[in-house]
Amino acid sequence: MSLKASPRAMVPFVSVDNMMRLVHRIGIETFIADLAQAIEEDFAKWDQFDKTPRVGSHSDVGVIELMPTSDGVLYGFKYVNGHPKNMGEGLQTVTAFGVLSDVYSGYPQLFTEMTLLTALRTAAMSAVATKHLAAPGADTMAMIGNGAQSEFQCLAVKAVCGVQTVRLYDIDPAATEKCARNLAGLGLNIITCTSPEQAVEGAQIITTATADKDMQTILTDNMVGAGVHINAIGGDCPGKTELHRDIVARASVFVEYPPQTRIEGEIQQMAPDHPVTELWQVITGQTKGRKSPDEVTLFDGVGFAIEDFSALRYVHQRIKDTPYYIDLDLIADPDDPRDLFGMLKRAK
Ligand code: NAD
Repeated sequence: MSLKASPRAMVPFVSVDNMMRLVHRIGIETFIADLAQAIEEDFAKWDQFDKTPRVGSHSDVGVIELMPTSDGVLYGFKYVNGHPKNMGEGLQTVTAFGVLSDVYSGYPQLFTEMTLLTALRTAAMSAVATKHLAAPGADTMAMIGNGAQSEFQCLAVKAVCGVQTVRLYDIDPAATEKCARNLAGLGLNIITCTSPEQAVEGAQIITTATADKDMQTILTDNMVGAGVHINAIGGDCPGKTELHRDIVARASVFVEYPPQTRIEGEIQQMAPDHPVTELWQVITGQTKGRKSPDEVTLFDGVGFAIEDFSALRYVHQRIKDTPYYIDLDLIADPDDPRDLFGMLKRAK
């Protein structure tokens, strides 16, 4: 009987440091494009997944959430928080980690940081929505909210949709400067703006990723021209929205999983039966996305567990035969499965 857990109980762990190495080894844009493909693959087998709105624990200052799902072979969950006040205290608004497990044994197969991975997968998700919904030839995006998610969002639409120009705006000019500095030299034309009205000028795509635990009006109806595609990803909690109701009323609304989006998304402002289209149906070709050049399309993105599952699955594949993880002694696994106490006793 060994004191140590058996090798199969060792769980690969990807630290923040190793995630950064993995992303650079693959290349940021390739990584995001691969994630976009993984999301499309999983959305295409939508019916196979166990689906539930995420479980949120709300406080006055933020939310802590668990996001589980399974395709019957693998099970994944993410722990994630959302605390808009954190930024002012020198902390991240969003942090996360996640686990991927084997359904047959229940043993975890991967334990990983997901703060970076969430930014990458959220960007990949917006890019998937933009690819399927934006007007053909759209090459300019307004990026409103230039915090932690913003550079990832800009690079994703470049990598997946061929966007060439980004027009940046944040109420805090320091955030816009940071975003422009980080994106410099990465192949995008960058225009910094001093108002949201200036940012949306000439943009066929508008992405909002602002953080405030409140019903905000980042965009008003007069700012959204015919044919524009909007990714509204910052409003992702009950009581937290970004768009004026009139935009939501006028737009064709596309969502991830309606039971979650109706609680958390822009459509929480609307009647409970406000018409929406599920994005997976557009991805599989069951439903048309954009129906006319003048239509305003809105991806009311709140972030759904299947996107995290896709990201976990991708990282699990890509760390094989690399030095970008360590084995964690996470699961007690005595040689005699009934002798858990004996293992503890012998360790004294
Ligand atoms: P962050 O705090 O790093 O950045 C938010 C930025 O928004 C800040 O720079 C802030 O100055 C700016 N801002 C606030 N109010 C504004 C306004 N009225 N106009 C313009 N800019 C404004 O946060 P982050 O990590 O970038 O996340 C942004 C939002 O996206 C959060 O609300 C977060 O919960 C959400 N989010 C959604 C998903 C998803 O899957 N949909 C995933 C990750 C994060």
